[in-house]
Amino acid sequence: MPIESSYFSVRERIETACAKAGRSSSDISLIAVSKTRTIDEIASLYSLGHRDFGENRLQEAIPKITALPKDITWHFIGTLQSNKARRIASVFPFIHTFSKESQIEEAEKAKTTVQAFIEVNIADEPQKSGVSLEKLDEFHAMLLQSSYVHFRGLMTIGPAGASADQMRSYFREIKRLTDQFGAKSISMGMSGDFEMALMEGATHIRVGTAIFGSRD
Ligand SMILES: *Cc1c(COP(=O)(O)O)cnc(C)c1O
Repeated sequence: MPIESSYFSVRERIETACAKAGRSSSDISLIAVSKTRTIDEIASLYSLGHRDFGENRLQEAIPKITALPKDITWHFIGTLQSNKARRIASVFPFIHTFSKESQIEEAEKAKTTVQAFIEVNIADEPQKSGVSLEKLDEFHAMLLQSSYVHFRGLMTIGPAGASADQMRSYFREIKRLTDQFGAKSISMGMSGDFEMALMEGATHIRVGTAIFGSRD
């Protein structure tokens, strides 16, 4: 499918899900996950008016950020290595994957405002990054102490292989915790489950495959 059609189809699915949920699609940020995609592919989406893009590796993102127009909002959605957090904070206004104190400390050194999500390891998967539910309050309190890294809300990547019902209950839990913190933003939902995430309160959905086609 040409990128125009898949993009507008995703846009339409967002409209439909929002209408069903009684929400306004203008409150939703669609982040086009452009990891592994070329500058040309990103430019064609840009020419359709799209401005929010998500990348997961600094080295891959730098040439794209350098080559593409400056009014793009770049979202970092990958593993946040502490030793790269300062550089990442200096080029990505949004970082979705804070889960360690050292990442915050390093990002602060960039001395530039960062919109921050805390990544929550909602299913307590051993090999997965993210803060456990147990440590979430403490980590959240720590993040609130920073000067440049501004807490926006929670982010989660549902476990691969979870059933739709399980995923829904994880999304609900993230929504409940976000409300409890008095936060407004929720980064959840990917190509396979963004409609459900929208039903459950997501404000930032991260969609790659459904827009660009499958990755090799
Ligand atoms: C790759 C990726 C996505 C997009 O996944 P799709 O299934 O292609 O939509 C979303 N979030 C994160 C954190 C990712 O790494």
